[in-house]
Amino acid sequence: MESIMTESGLGSEPEPSPLDLSFTNTEIAFSSKSNSELKNTYRLFKLMNNSRLVSIGSVLTLWAVKLRIPFINYLIKKTIFSQFCGGENLLDCQTTIDRLYDYNTLTILDYGAEGKSDEEDLDAVLEENMRALEMAASNNSVPIVSVKITGLVDNEVLENLQKNGSLSTPDQVKYDRLLERMYALCEKANELRVGIFIDAEESWIQKPIDTLALELMKEYNKDFCVVYNTYQMYRHDKLAQLMQDHVWAMGENVVFGAKMVRGAYLEKENERAVELGYKSPIQPDKASTDRDFNAALKYCIENYQTISSCCASHNLESNRYQAELINDKNLDKTHPHLNFSQLYGMSDYITFNLADAGYNVAKYVPYGSVREVMPYLIRRAQENTSITGDMSRELSLIDKEMKRRGI
Ligand SMILES: Cc1cc2nc3c(=O)[nH]c(=O)nc-3n(C[C@H](O)[C@H](O)[C@H](O)COP(=O)(O)OP(=O)(O)OC[C@H]3O[C@@H](n4cnc5c(N)ncnc54)[C@H](O)[C@@H]3O)c2cc1C
Repeated sequence: MESIMTESGLGSEPEPSPLDLSFTNTEIAFSSKSNSELKNTYRLFKLMNNSRLVSIGSVLTLWAVKLRIPFINYLIKKTIFSQFCGGENLLDCQTTIDRLYDYNTLTILDYGAEGKSDEEDLDAVLEENMRALEMAASNNSVPIVSVKITGLVDNEVLENLQKNGSLSTPDQVKYDRLLERMYALCEKANELRVGIFIDAEESWIQKPIDTLALELMKEYNKDFCVVYNTYQMYRHDKLAQLMQDHVWAMGENVVFGAKMVRGAYLEKENERAVELGYKSPIQPDKASTDRDFNAALKYCIENYQTISSCCASHNLESNRYQAELINDKNLDKTHPHLNFSQLYGMSDYITFNLADAGYNVAKYVPYGSVREVMPYLIRRAQENTSITGDMSRELSLIDKEMKRRGI
């Protein structure tokens, strides 16, 4: 919406309307869940609250899957898999996609494969990502596909490139294959008008990912945002990098695509820094991460004409803050550059209340065989172990909704 400020400076900004959004409406938050689904979610979150159970269970489950113990896949599928995954393949995901769309919520497809190194496996991941793009193009509720570079190249190649600045001949061949795969994906995404989120990884392999993401933006973000890079605000250097990359994108005359997260590898990052004796790239405390995350949201919303962004978070205050920024500036909340996202199975009270109020919000929907998504599922179980803060809020809201329904 245009400002009504006159040239002489007379006149005034329109009064922002009060935020038309409540995150405590449990009827809206859980309307997509039947009574039995709600009860199952409650039981699962309660179980995951037990940290001993989660750490022992994670190890045992990984072994059981590896050893193909009978019924283990069935057990996982009935519990943690159905909570956090859309299905084993794209066809399975259609039901989830349709169900989310019934509640005004979009889907970001996320094939669960990671940490592959065999070239045949990497090609198979490429093919799956291609199919996901086609699936996205045939559903108007799937605007984006998430891509993990670590599923498309041996991680060691990225690590060597970052460490040495150049590659041995065999590594260069592997890296060239990664380039071919990423260009093929972006070419197809551009043709089909589907976006690609490039996930962020550990700091010791992130630099080549950042460089490649910008190279792809330059090629494909000319009139539509195909490529988004991910910025982890638990790193003390990333707010500055986000701004610098935006300035660069404006110079190149391309749309800047930015997905903002806090960051998933906190302990691993700090432990490695101590072990190898370098300064950790991680912020000194949570408050610093929160400050930079919200500053990044503000920067992106203020520059929304040249930045297509996504607040990818389960933090209530950050989601509320982005909604307030959009509201205070009287922006069209359906503008394609203004986005929110949460992981499937988590923070439904944020997602469905944002969707009900008309904001662009999507669930990240991971899919893949039980074996492929196990590392992802274990991360989710561990993340939900400390049922404090936002997680305890979710659990208490589920409890409130169960009482409201009398179940
Ligand atoms: C849609 C979506 C996509 C995602 N994609 C990625 C991705 O590509 N790459 C990736 O790394 N992560 C990704 N994540 C995970 C994300 O980085 C966070 O781990 C997770 O969302 C928790 O952060 P939060 O903003 O939801 O909220 P909160 O629960 O408020 O924040 C927890 C986070 O704060 C940070 N933190 C906690 N303690 C400290 C401390 N002492 N010092 C500094 N920082 C601290 C950590 O990052 C921690 O994960 C994604 C999350 C979502 C919702």
